[in-house]
Amino acid sequence: THDIHIIGGGLAGSEAAWQLAQAGWKVRISEMRGSGAMTPAHQSDRLAELVCSNSFRSDDADRNAVGLLHREMRDLGSLIMAQGDAHKVPAGSALAVDRDGFADGVTAALTQHPNITIIRERIDRLPDTGMTIVATGPLTAEALAGSIGAATGKDQLAFFDAIAPIVHFDTIGMDTAWFQSRWNKGSGKDYINCPMSKDQYLAFHQALLDGEKSAFREWENVPYFEGCMPIEVMAERGVDTLRYGPMKGVGLDDPRTGRWPYAVVQLRQDNASGTLWNMVGFQTKLKHAEQVRIFRTIPGLENAEFARLGGLHRNTFIKSPELLDPTLRLRSAPHIRFAGQITGCEGYVESAAIGLLAGRFAAAELAGTAMAAPPVETALGALLTHITGAAEAETYQPMNVNFGLFPPITGRTKKADRKLLYTSRAREAFGAWQAG
Ligand code: FAD
Repeated sequence: THDIHIIGGGLAGSEAAWQLAQAGWKVRISEMRGSGAMTPAHQSDRLAELVCSNSFRSDDADRNAVGLLHREMRDLGSLIMAQGDAHKVPAGSALAVDRDGFADGVTAALTQHPNITIIRERIDRLPDTGMTIVATGPLTAEALAGSIGAATGKDQLAFFDAIAPIVHFDTIGMDTAWFQSRWNKGSGKDYINCPMSKDQYLAFHQALLDGEKSAFREWENVPYFEGCMPIEVMAERGVDTLRYGPMKGVGLDDPRTGRWPYAVVQLRQDNASGTLWNMVGFQTKLKHAEQVRIFRTIPGLENAEFARLGGLHRNTFIKSPELLDPTLRLRSAPHIRFAGQITGCEGYVESAAIGLLAGRFAAAELAGTAMAAPPVETALGALLTHITGAAEAETYQPMNVNFGLFPPITGRTKKADRKLLYTSRAREAFGAWQAG
């Protein structure tokens, strides 16, 4: 018998199990790898296997949002961080790990824990009863994905991720770009427009054709939906395809000329506080370095910093802002919590962080108490708030933790100082929360 059932023993499921077991609850983990089933990206049956790079990214807790997240997780006794630290390999200011040692370490810690039972089995349906955490990741097996789709409404489950880049507002050159909705519909501040002359457009079109693309892995072999065609594929269809598609200039009056621009790149507000803006229609398979190089030739984006770059891969995630309550429970079936990348965070560390919170929320619920959510000024709180409410549900896309998710620091400060302000404010809020 167990108190809680965790489906999926990846980054999030492992962390959630650890937090619950450490709090004294009996946990059953169902992990399909090791039972004959496999995902298209995993290689082994180890828990918390890293499917791609071996980096947990920056470990700088003073100047980097993911570094800050590392610190908060360490403070909360994270297994993923403890094993990451134990299996660290040299990587400058980043935390990179020996992937085999790391996954072996996590697997051993969970296997040896007296409160944890690991069953190698694939789960095909959401359980009707019993407290459950679903942490099956971006490559959730098909039958369970179908069951999740049935419980959440089909259009609530994205199976396929076509991501456009997202830009930090304070790096957009607003002396070139301007706020306006096409034909002045909407609030007038719904879009930011970056204008292009004919020569600029032709050069940009050529750069898209010449830019280096990432190859599709065979398991990523999905058809394009017309609505999320990569920008470079559209460029290949003809020199004017973009200019009559996402880059059309009609109905937009460039305040500097009083005329419609030859072409335009539009950005749409991506979070409630307006710190993040996504490039409309710019989903792309261009390599990340190429995106930065080519998109910085867009007038107004010369100094753009990207909160995330575009990409295209299979990714099962739910529209969490609509579907989940503030403690990650499915509103329509509150015995089920979601954790990890399936909630729409992105990254190893973020997935584990949401696993940590799901585990702690569940432990409090089992104890008949309620746990206060971490404040939005902390990295954990900012990420949780993004997932459970702050983001626009319609355009919701998986996101790494970044300072754009935090309440903005206002006033005139140098960029380098601003990062310190974010992290010192976070440290204070985190301390107060932990003390409470
Ligand atoms: P996972 O770690 O994938 O864990 C989910 C677990 O659930 C798996 O063990 C799976 O076998 C199991 N499972 C699935 N369905 C079932 C079922 N029905 N029954 C039982 N078990 C099931 N992030 C980075 O930070 N850096 C990267 O380099 C990186 N590269 C990525 C590359 C790819 C191809 C993908 C898809 C994602 C990548 N990510 C990367 C994003 C993300 O960080 C990882 O996917 C991360 O592993 C997500 O953690 P998770 O716990 O949510 O899911």
